[in-house]
Amino acid sequence: MRVDVLTLFPEMFEGVFGTSILGKAQTKGLVSLNAVNFRNYATNKHNTVDDTPYGGGGGMVLKPDPIFAAVEDVLEKRSKESAAAASAKPPRIILMCPQGETFTQKKAEELVQEDHLIFICGHYEGYDERIREFLVTDEISIGDYVLTGGELPAMVAIDSVARLIPGVLGNETSAVTDSFSTGLLEYPHYTRPPEFRGMKVPDVLLSGHHLNIDAWRREQSLIRTLERRPDMLDTAELTEKERIWLDKLRSEMERTSE
Ligand code: SAM
Repeated sequence: MRVDVLTLFPEMFEGVFGTSILGKAQTKGLVSLNAVNFRNYATNKHNTVDDTPYGGGGGMVLKPDPIFAAVEDVLEKRSKESAAAASAKPPRIILMCPQGETFTQKKAEELVQEDHLIFICGHYEGYDERIREFLVTDEISIGDYVLTGGELPAMVAIDSVARLIPGVLGNETSAVTDSFSTGLLEYPHYTRPPEFRGMKVPDVLLSGHHLNIDAWRREQSLIRTLERRPDMLDTAELTEKERIWLDKLRSEMERTSE
């Protein structure tokens, strides 16, 4: 997979792209992560990429021309680099913005199927609407709050997509059992020592009995989801037995909280 991020602050990505799992994934050739400064595509003599809004009001608006030119250049360079890329399906062009679709694990699973993603990071008041209407394929928000720029949101999205690329995580099963991948929150984890300051690891985890351990983990996952994110249970894949058990548990919880 190739990922290009259009930003006014490419230096912000150096640490994230070069460190830990993402850094190793690049060394292994599993993903190529590139930060592109779209100020380099400004055509006026002061290299400005923003301007005051038509109609008045505060804040500066990102101009369409440098961003369109940067995307076009990324596409042209990619098709020159490889004939396969020239005939591949067009990339997803993703605008980071608080008004976009809220980013989820499902969206990460959808995006990891692509072979080229381009992220656009805004700054200041906003973007010229023509970028939204005529250039991008997706708009992503990382939550209902406003940040100063799209760099941190893009890092969040890129990290969660890249870790799903086969080979990126050392242990392939860990992404499969993660919270949200299964439709439930993940079960609790413990490691050595078996007893710490009087706090004990549940016996079942020390038993070596894998069927019992799997059953305990499933149960814990259901309890944790019921306590913290009951909304997820509406769409989770549950057996009839689990639904009945959860209904009972829910009634007990309601009774004790009264
Ligand atoms: N005026 C805009 C609005 O009300 O929708 C907010 C602009 S914000 C200050 C500047 C930039 O930060 C946005 O263009 C976007 O790239 C990024 N940003 C801020 N919050 C975000 C969020 N929750 N998710 C994704 N991007 C965000």
